[in-house]
Amino acid sequence: MPGGTDQTLRPFLWRAAKLYPDQEIVSRTHQGIERYTYSEYSDRIAQLANALDEYGIERGDRVGTFCWNHHRHFETYFSVPSIGAQLHTINPLLPDEHIQYIVDNADDQLIFVDPSLAPKLADAATDAPEFDGIDFVVMDDRESDALDATPYEAFIDGHGTTYEWPDLDETQPAGMCYTSGTTGNPKGVEYTQKMLWSHTMMTLTPQGLPMEDDDVVMPVVPMFHVNAWGMPFTATAAAAKHVYPGPSPDPKDLAHLIENEGVTITAGVPTVWLGLMEYVENNDIDLSSLDTLVVGGSAAPESMIRWFDNRGVEVLHAWGMTEMSPIGTVAHLKSELEEEDYETQLDHRAKQGLLIPGLEMRVIDENDEEVAWDGEEFGELWVRGPTVTTEYFKRPDATEEDFEDGWLKTGDVVTVDEEGYIKIVDRAKDVIKSGGEWISSVELENAIMAHEGVSEAAVVGVPHEKWQERPVAFVVPTTAAATETLDEEIMDLLRSEYPKWWLPDAIEYLDEIPKTATGKFSKKDIRDQYSDQSLVEATAPEDAAPDNE
Ligand code: AMP
Repeated sequence: MPGGTDQTLRPFLWRAAKLYPDQEIVSRTHQGIERYTYSEYSDRIAQLANALDEYGIERGDRVGTFCWNHHRHFETYFSVPSIGAQLHTINPLLPDEHIQYIVDNADDQLIFVDPSLAPKLADAATDAPEFDGIDFVVMDDRESDALDATPYEAFIDGHGTTYEWPDLDETQPAGMCYTSGTTGNPKGVEYTQKMLWSHTMMTLTPQGLPMEDDDVVMPVVPMFHVNAWGMPFTATAAAAKHVYPGPSPDPKDLAHLIENEGVTITAGVPTVWLGLMEYVENNDIDLSSLDTLVVGGSAAPESMIRWFDNRGVEVLHAWGMTEMSPIGTVAHLKSELEEEDYETQLDHRAKQGLLIPGLEMRVIDENDEEVAWDGEEFGELWVRGPTVTTEYFKRPDATEEDFEDGWLKTGDVVTVDEEGYIKIVDRAKDVIKSGGEWISSVELENAIMAHEGVSEAAVVGVPHEKWQERPVAFVVPTTAAATETLDEEIMDLLRSEYPKWWLPDAIEYLDEIPKTATGKFSKKDIRDQYSDQSLVEATAPEDAAPDNE
């Protein structure tokens, strides 16, 4: 095959820089707001490529980043893959042992690190043989006090602003990200040039996260987490203006970037938007530039969608996974639903949504059969397509468990309604199997958290001799809660919505629900620390099975 015909990332940038040389890239850094154009960006990525060559990075080598969202991190996004090397974004929020494991497993040669994260990386690297032979570049124009590292500006300084970009094969690995498993070591996912190219094109469609050249795109989702959902690539393909919110942005920083830079589309996890909502409620902030707010990573609460609707901002609820590059579904409203009333539309928009073009799915129940698309039956979601990996890096054990004939078994348990909208009801490992049927822990948690006396709730399955598992609720009451009557009130609430066999056998009170490094409830820790068979043995009702309903 002649060179240059494969599906690779570089032409997206080539086009953007040629056709839109003056389009802006804006970045909040330690030094304040920095801005330059696509044309200057393109020069700098050539300088970085030359610097990487001189350092000795070769095709197939892995280059790590340990950074927040800013223009220098974005420079690695195009430069590293386009010389044929592989960009490995490392999550700085992971515990040191995971960072050591990841760096060793990926065999990183060089790591780019933010000044504010250098102390954390230095801690992880101290006395850790996994870091032997790895050099550091600090994303700054000066040295770091915490780490022996070359300043980035010195690293690229003096290098040429042109580069002989090689014609790459689309199967060349271009990116890499580890997924933090709830058990065991993190699992590496490699993104080939073709996967990233496909993800860019699939998300650019009207069914994805569509962007145009007059958009101002602000990825709040970290660039260390699956390429900030691919947005830096998609925004470049669209030749949109980029806005990067920098190190640990708080709601005030985000609100002012939206206002001052005219952000039209932004994306992040629900907790980020809850913070922004509170800030906007209490301050005079103009959100009028904002057209679209993408919410993913965990479920978008309906109240959030309503809040933004009232301010003229369309919430797009999206679902994805590290293994999928990552976007899988987006809850766009089908045109046939446009005539429906607001509440019916909201029912659909609050689900995880419709598969983006290019993917296929199956939903498989316990008996290995596909479930009906009726919004009721649930099973595990399987997906496949050009953006979905078919293996974990150097982990045949995990690969065997999670993949079958090119399908990724997502571990998410879902329903699909008649229109094809998926709704996540649980993680496969968290769904509670009682008397041969499944109980959604997430549904029970949401129902319990709707009680005003509850600030957090997690429901886990506790082993039970007769029923296999029974649900137990772990609840953090609010300070104002009347705890004497809380048990009964919660049970009344659940009784009104759910069959008897779904009701928890016990409600236990905690000061705090244990969380994972990404802020999700750690069901594993709850099970390990608190769930004890005696919680259910004493109380399990005789009719704790669907047959007795
Ligand atoms: P990660 O690979 O770390 O991005 O985590 C992927 C997992 O996050 C998925 O398998 C889901 O369990 C969860 N997730 C992602 N997006 C959503 C969403 N919109 N609603 C509920 N869960 C989500």
